[in-house]
Amino acid sequence: MDSLPDELNLDFLPAITGSFSTPSRQNPTVEMVEAAYRHHKIHARYLNCEVLPADLENAIKGAKAMQWLGFNCSIPHKINVMRYLDGLGTAASLIGAVNCVVNRNGILIGENTDGAGFLISLQHVTTLQNKEFVLYGAGGAARAIAVEIALAGARTIHIVNRERSRGEELVKLINDKTSATAIFHDWHSQHKVPESADVVINATSVGFYPDTDAMINIDTDTLLPSMIVADVIPNPPHTALLRAAEQRGCKTLDGLGMLVYQGVAGIKHWTGKDVDPSIMRKTLERIFNVQ
Ligand code: NDP
Repeated sequence: MDSLPDELNLDFLPAITGSFSTPSRQNPTVEMVEAAYRHHKIHARYLNCEVLPADLENAIKGAKAMQWLGFNCSIPHKINVMRYLDGLGTAASLIGAVNCVVNRNGILIGENTDGAGFLISLQHVTTLQNKEFVLYGAGGAARAIAVEIALAGARTIHIVNRERSRGEELVKLINDKTSATAIFHDWHSQHKVPESADVVINATSVGFYPDTDAMINIDTDTLLPSMIVADVIPNPPHTALLRAAEQRGCKTLDGLGMLVYQGVAGIKHWTGKDVDPSIMRKTLERIFNVQ
């Protein structure tokens, strides 16, 4: 008889984690997280699940019944999931959205690791204290990023968005709940990046596959070499915006960093383990054919 693998220690019940979203087929998180589980010999699995809005409650009940450690929520469940949870972490409650649910002995707590993931990625290339940011977008990703950079010491955040009400709501949140100053800018013509900006962030969905050549409507001549230009788009990582920013001599940051570090934070919440981000990054680079 073949011998059994030692590391399983005759334990055939992996801990379960995963993701609920729709559409889910193109979501690479499962590959990234399972690469970390394998590398660190964490006896757990991550299941990418297609869950329609009408089935979200049952999916959560199922995860609880099967004692999942927790799960990510992606489009379109990040707000609706909150009604099925028992509590919220500080960032999730400020941001008003949950992308990571943690099951603590049957008590479901909603966390938001998107903004924290972006923040850690950014902190690898700059400090935030007293910096001026231009943030394009006011949706879920932008809200998460704005809250985290404001809490981490950003001085000024210019929020540029087409839909005024969403932009103004985010400005109010930042001004009311953090010490940063947020200013709303209408976005109905080509936007000029202010010379004083230190960091420019695309937190819109512009540039996402399959519209890979799409770029936010900004005057790229106003990007200066002193600026860091970041994009949240993970697929493709090398967006038209980042290509233009490189040509202008800016330092750039792709959306894979945010994806990796929100994954690291999720695994820590679920398993208590610190995993190696480079394993996860390499997996994504292979998937997206990054040279
Ligand atoms: P939302 O739908 O909540 O928000 C979308 C935002 O994009 C809104 O501000 C919207 O503006 C803006 N927008 C859409 N199209 C245009 C356009 N043509 N011109 C200008 N603005 C536009 O989406 P999310 O915030 O949840 O996600 C945004 C992106 O972030 C997605 O592509 C997602 O993949 C990415 N993301 C990446 C993560 C990562 O780990 N790298 C994590 C989470 C998200 P308006 O309000 O005017 O409609």
